[in-house]
Amino acid sequence: MEHHKRESRSYRHRQCGDETLLDGMDLTYVSHIFYHPGRTYCASCDDVFPVHEFEWADTGECLTNWYSRYAAKFQGLDRFLGDELLVYLTIAIGTIVGGLVGFWVGNKWALGVAIGGSVVGVLLVGFIGFVVGAAIKEGVCRRVLVTEDFTSLE
Ligand SMILES: [Zn+2]
Repeated sequence: MEHHKRESRSYRHRQCGDETLLDGMDLTYVSHIFYHPGRTYCASCDDVFPVHEFEWADTGECLTNWYSRYAAKFQGLDRFLGDELLVYLTIAIGTIVGGLVGFWVGNKWALGVAIGGSVVGVLLVGFIGFVVGAAIKEGVCRRVLVTEDFTSLE
């Protein structure tokens, strides 16, 4: 199955039958299979309604079914590793470990060096935590969904 980056997608509000075009951040926001909004906007009604009242215009699949169909592919540990919360966690761990190690190493010389060392450790190991967490998350999403881009899912 090939995946192409989707620039825009329309959903249909089932109550009025009209379509609303989504792109950019709006499409990303509505397409998040784990943290999707509970309500979304219909341009024709100029109001927001629960997501279960909407279906993708191209496939006719209800958004609620679409979210759970893809989210259900993440079994066990993958659900944890494929989540952006993992990235925040690895950043937090890197920040704490880097700060402590930097302080410990610098403290062999002087308190000023220890403080400088902890700042360097926070930035450096915090960044490594971000890179590692993001790589794990994207790897799991690609393995489970073939893509890490939820907007390109059918
Ligand atoms: Zn409507």
